[in-house]
Amino acid sequence: MDHKIITGFSSACIHAGHKQDPMYSHLTPIYASSTFVYDTAEQGMLRFEGKEEGYIYSRWGNPNFTEAELKISALEAFGLTGDNGKPLELKGILHASGMAALTTLFLGTLKAGDKIITHFSLYGGTEELFQKILPGLGIEAVIVDMHNLKETEDAIKAHPDAKMMYLETPANPTLQCVDLEELISIAREHKLITAVDNTFATPYLQQPFAFGADFVFHSTTKYLNGHGTAIGGIIIGKDIQLMEGKMMKTHRLLGGNSNPFDAYLLTQGIKTLEVRMERHCHNAMEVANFLESHPAVSKVNYLGLSSHPDFAIASKQMKHPGAMMSFELKGGLEAGKQFINRLKMCTKAVSLGTCDTLVSHPASMTHYGVPKATREQYGITDGLIRMSVGMESITDIINDLDQALQ
Ligand SMILES: *Cc1c(COP(=O)(O)O)cnc(C)c1O
Repeated sequence: MDHKIITGFSSACIHAGHKQDPMYSHLTPIYASSTFVYDTAEQGMLRFEGKEEGYIYSRWGNPNFTEAELKISALEAFGLTGDNGKPLELKGILHASGMAALTTLFLGTLKAGDKIITHFSLYGGTEELFQKILPGLGIEAVIVDMHNLKETEDAIKAHPDAKMMYLETPANPTLQCVDLEELISIAREHKLITAVDNTFATPYLQQPFAFGADFVFHSTTKYLNGHGTAIGGIIIGKDIQLMEGKMMKTHRLLGGNSNPFDAYLLTQGIKTLEVRMERHCHNAMEVANFLESHPAVSKVNYLGLSSHPDFAIASKQMKHPGAMMSFELKGGLEAGKQFINRLKMCTKAVSLGTCDTLVSHPASMTHYGVPKATREQYGITDGLIRMSVGMESITDIINDLDQALQ
């Protein structure tokens, strides 16, 4: 196929990164092979030197990884232009998990003595990496409220050894958003590299490279896979030399590679990204409106509601407000547990981005062991319900929630 024919996002979701299989299999087969053969010693040499394209060993690369990497890179670059005026070129490296990709990102770009400027609301695993692992290597996170641009710039000035600005927007699980355009511009002025966790938005809703980001990160476990069938992560960069050099070296030596089966599942999942996100977001808006007018609910946190404090930032940088939300039950802990137990269709599980609606009650599940006072500092109150709105028929989702709220 001639890829120049691709002008629409969904066409890129479906076709980008695909290469005709030599055996004429429609889909790229699962290349379950640890190593790859060469015809001659000379060919082996050329491949090791990177002078001939070809695979060597699956920790280093595999056709299934390549297809997913090219596809996600094409989506993050979709419609964007690079500094040279040509279509933006990106390079992605697929990993075994989001956390493995983050490890490569930080260890490939930072060294002892460097600091990371970041927002106070981040995915729990990322925060723990900042608090429990990186300090031991001499890398420290400086936490600021990035809603305040002046405070952010002051923090950069106060820390001359700040090397990276790390952003996550919308953030997991609080749904806080920070302004990509303003913050990346501040970071660039002060020569900081910028990395953005785009997991909640996906490239369909938000493209951080449009604002000048250096790296984009995804936990592909969520919306990119879309079906909850595999854990995975990716880092994507626009400095191709850096990605193919230092970042690839770091990745290969840390060994957090994906595997052919998970990469295959991811590739199939991404093909429906646009239609899934449209449906997810449409359903989420309906659910938010339903919950907002329900007498048992005291508060709904959804980026599509003007009552959300980051409504304006989300509207500015995202195509739709996504499909994650949380809401507060008036009845507290007991009401939260009862609500979960009464659900008949929605799935009781943590994680997000799957076809089915996932509902969790942090106070009795993920944050059960956290003291109440600490929990509440993070906004996790007794009656808080967290929801990843799925793609089921909207009437059924609302009916299930309605009967569980009785
Ligand atoms: C899930 C998640 C991660 C971590 O990814 P894993 O695939 O679970 O390793 C990082 N950031 C965000 C926003 C996430 O939701």
